Amino acid sequence: MSIVSSTLQPTAPVRVGIVGAGQLARMMGSAAHEANVEVTVLASSPDDCAIATSDHSVIGAPTDARALHRLSRLVDVITFDHELVDLEQIGQLESLGVTVRPSARALSYSVDKAHQRREFRRAGIAVPDFVITRSGSDRELDEFLDRTENVVVKSARGGYDGRGVIFPATRADAIEAVESFARGEVVVEERLELLCELSQIVVRAVDAQCVTYPLVRTVQSEGMCVEVTFPALVDSRVERQAQSLARSIAELTGAVGVVAVELFLTTQGLVVNEIALRPHNSGHWTIEGAVTSQFANHLLAVSGARLSSADACVEAAAMVNVVGADREGSLVAAMDVAGAHVHDYGKSWRRGRKLGHVTAVGDDLASAHVRAWESARAYGTKTREA
Ligand code: ADP
Repeated sequence: MSIVSSTLQPTAPVRVGIVGAGQLARMMGSAAHEANVEVTVLASSPDDCAIATSDHSVIGAPTDARALHRLSRLVDVITFDHELVDLEQIGQLESLGVTVRPSARALSYSVDKAHQRREFRRAGIAVPDFVITRSGSDRELDEFLDRTENVVVKSARGGYDGRGVIFPATRADAIEAVESFARGEVVVEERLELLCELSQIVVRAVDAQCVTYPLVRTVQSEGMCVEVTFPALVDSRVERQAQSLARSIAELTGAVGVVAVELFLTTQGLVVNEIALRPHNSGHWTIEGAVTSQFANHLLAVSGARLSSADACVEAAAMVNVVGADREGSLVAAMDVAGAHVHDYGKSWRRGRKLGHVTAVGDDLASAHVRAWESARAYGTKTREA
């Protein structure tokens, strides 16, 4: 009897181009094999940290039209490491037939905080009360400041990690802050009393299939995320509400890939702070803590594949960012902490720079938290436990 075996042909990897070559692109590069994609990064310099994990690279600024065209000729789809991009250029690439995921239309929500606030309010999504202005002497701003005691002033574009966000102490400071950002639109919003900050990640596929990661709690200091913990330890109603909010936002934006929704928990309920349409710092724990990491699922989504499970595979996880302090710490000592998974981004040491992160997982959040911090401190982080 002869046995006829059919040979399974492995499908060719989808070629994904990533605009930007920072730590997110680096971790996407590490997940590329799992998602059956080949990664080409658009790096500003040959020293960029994602070059080490990518298959190919193109050197050029993220807003250099020629470099973007070169990248687009090498790949099947373009995605992003950050939102410091020129929406018009991205729209032009799309009009030339280049596949961009998330699209320029979706990206406009994460690139422009004024657009995001306006559209979310229009869609009935809870956001802080706000006014959008271009000048410190605007009548609408004046009226807003009359009725709002504590405000936050945000540059609509170009801010990240707290850059572009000012907490003014007085009305005069608020007006000065507006003037300092008034090259473009400025969002002035009420400063809310926060019970805590949360983040909900949803991943949306080309066919609109969505998977949601568990809700996590985040802690920020000086505008930068310091730690992320799972479970979020909030009421299950809050968890359900966060998931449905994130799904509606994913639908509204039409984004493909990771949609990270940063949330404020207040006494009035959940309020959306902002969204990111790329893998997000609040999802780094999923490398060890979930069945599929946010990086693999983002690549599956943008390459047009079906998504994989976003369920947690651990009971608890704590992730601590390592931000350069005055003196360099010891990577070896950080790795010596039992149960700590140390991710070194391969960047040179600089004060205030995100150099890596540490995740500890297990059955018990308190002990994961202790181990993650012990390792991050040995690594030399400038951040401190809240
Ligand atoms: P970035 O885009 O630079 O990350 P965010 O808009 O997320 O800046 O603000 C950074 C941090 O500032 C938030 O995580 C939160 O801690 C605080 N913050 C921002 N907006 C408000 C607000 N309306 N009320 C209270 N705190 C706020």
